[in-house]
Amino acid sequence: RGQELSPEKLSQALCLCSDVDEQLKQLVTLFQFSENERRLRDLLVTLLQEVFSEFFPGCEVLPFGSSVNSFEVHCCDLDLFLDLEHTKTFQANARKPQEEKQNEDKVPLDTLSEDSILSDVDLESASTSEILELIAAVLRQCVPGVHGVQALTSARLPVVKFQHKESALQGDISINNRLAFCNTRLLQLYAEVDDRVRPLVYTLRYWAKQKELAGNPFGGGPLLNNYALTLLALFFLQTRSPPVLPAVAQLKELADEGEKAIIDGWDCSFPRDSSKVEPSCNLENLRSLLAEFFHVFADFDFVSTVISLREGLALPLTDIMASETSCMLKLGALNIQDPFELSHNVAGNVSEKIALRFQNRCRDAAKYCRSLQYQRKSNKGKTWGLVRLFQRGDNTEISTTEEGPAAGDGLVIYLPSPLLVLTEVQRRNLCGTEGMQQFCFQKVCTALQFVLQDVLKCSVSLDEDDENMANAEQAVLQEEEPCVGAKRTLAEEGTSVPDSKRPRLEAESSKEERVSWHCTICHRVWLGRRKMRRELRRSAAPNLSQDVDSLQVEAEVTEAIAQQEHGSGPAQPLLTFRVSIVSTGATSQDCRTSLYFTPLQEPVALFQDFFHFLQVFLPKTVMKYIQKHTLDSP
Ligand code: ATP
Ligand code: MG
Repeated sequence: RGQELSPEKLSQALCLCSDVDEQLKQLVTLFQFSENERRLRDLLVTLLQEVFSEFFPGCEVLPFGSSVNSFEVHCCDLDLFLDLEHTKTFQANARKPQEEKQNEDKVPLDTLSEDSILSDVDLESASTSEILELIAAVLRQCVPGVHGVQALTSARLPVVKFQHKESALQGDISINNRLAFCNTRLLQLYAEVDDRVRPLVYTLRYWAKQKELAGNPFGGGPLLNNYALTLLALFFLQTRSPPVLPAVAQLKELADEGEKAIIDGWDCSFPRDSSKVEPSCNLENLRSLLAEFFHVFADFDFVSTVISLREGLALPLTDIMASETSCMLKLGALNIQDPFELSHNVAGNVSEKIALRFQNRCRDAAKYCRSLQYQRKSNKGKTWGLVRLFQRGDNTEISTTEEGPAAGDGLVIYLPSPLLVLTEVQRRNLCGTEGMQQFCFQKVCTALQFVLQDVLKCSVSLDEDDENMANAEQAVLQEEEPCVGAKRTLAEEGTSVPDSKRPRLEAESSKEERVSWHCTICHRVWLGRRKMRRELRRSAAPNLSQDVDSLQVEAEVTEAIAQQEHGSGPAQPLLTFRVSIVSTGATSQDCRTSLYFTPLQEPVALFQDFFHFLQVFLPKTVMKYIQKHTLDSP
């Protein structure tokens, strides 16, 4: 069984190295599996394969994640994908009585009273939860040495968890996870293509763990997960000049027929054999690559770009929003697009606070890497190189504040900067950052109000409790009855709301601008939107449907959903909530706004559904509005 290395032992081992490059390589040696650890995992997989094959004929047990992606550390969990593609039925009576006699410790499923399964199950008609329960039952009853089995059927990625008693190894079994199996192979390939990849990723993973930036011990939470952090490191290597690693799109060109694959609709073609990839002519050493990583991300524009490993580029958000496939990406404080599933932001869970902390720690690290203490071994027995970099709590005094703009890490949506859609001339006309901030704040508020009120048929009024009420005392929005908006259509109103109806947002020239609105919505506008959109498009005149203003289409979709839900009769308020719109300053490139949502009534679960919809819907719709109404004006 592998032991976690204590920080003291690690420091000792690293101080013995002769230079920083050797320290990075040493880290791999210290953390990777021993022969025995690998053998134990292989044996466990073989055992599970044997047992599962009896109950799920034709199944395959495929390890993925850190056990096999080349970035393993002692004691990391064992992620398994149970591939049931060729399995039609679950065979409850697979284990025959003769066999039982030979295997005293194994008991047929149907002899146990608790969660026993008496009959065969047709897997084609079984739900994911039912299949996971079957897997859990097999693990509990037929796999020796396993305990703590638990089916987490309602998790974002449903899994069955278990523990191997003797080694204390934690395992997760999932089904429907072919994409993760595939991205694991991609990481393996990248690790093989260049031998600087493993030392760099191991170092960054350990650094991020020490600085409490990554880890997510229970899978959720606001930290970066190891997969996302690894993608960030690979992206960095793709964008060196000359590149250390090729982009995923370039790898695709190297795939031969047998390696071409479409999984869940996503193109996952890439070669399995690393010798097909040309070695890089980049000659940077590990010491300077690590320093450069920190330098690059200390000032990286995470807000208005999406990190694309597919292209090996940071793509402007506007490009992403214009793309059919990528526009579903849930934008967040860090946007890292999955290399295959292009609508998935692998860092979508990262809170703004953690994103800020990440940049601050990169800044600290970049500064440290410029010192001699990083670059050279100390002859006086002082800590040097990576050892100081890994110290917890060190360097914090040079960090800037990392608190986000209040309201915690709860229900926040970040909106990209309206500056993104300006022309150079328009940008130049906005003199000074203050003017820029006010401009952006006004733009966002106007657009947001339009989207909430006119597109989603919410009623919106200034929040009476808002402490900034005084600043905006004349900015009273025309009080509306709840859901009055629902009776108005865009066709009647035109696509813009008269200025007199907009709240005036005279913020003082302080750094923070904020306003809060009280909102009510009467319909489940998030349910069945896609279907309704398709139907509307189909029934519209075919030559018209292409060019129709998408904001207008969205408003019609809401109208149709409202009609379907309540007919033309009066609707009762469904949800009330507060949204605080906060802008915390601008630079010449960037001016983003955070939206903080607070549900004001039960049931909160319903609000959660609405919020999840808004996370994807709001940023792109608000930007569409700004684009439409800014480019036309001088
Ligand atoms: P460790 O378990 O050491 O933290 P890991 O790489 O195994 O590292 P897990 O969180 O266990 O990380 O995830 C297992 C695998 O699932 C990852 O290697 C990746 O293939 C996939 N995966 C994890 N998180 C995501 C995500 N946010 N998006 C897409 N795939 C993911
Ligand atoms: Mg794992």
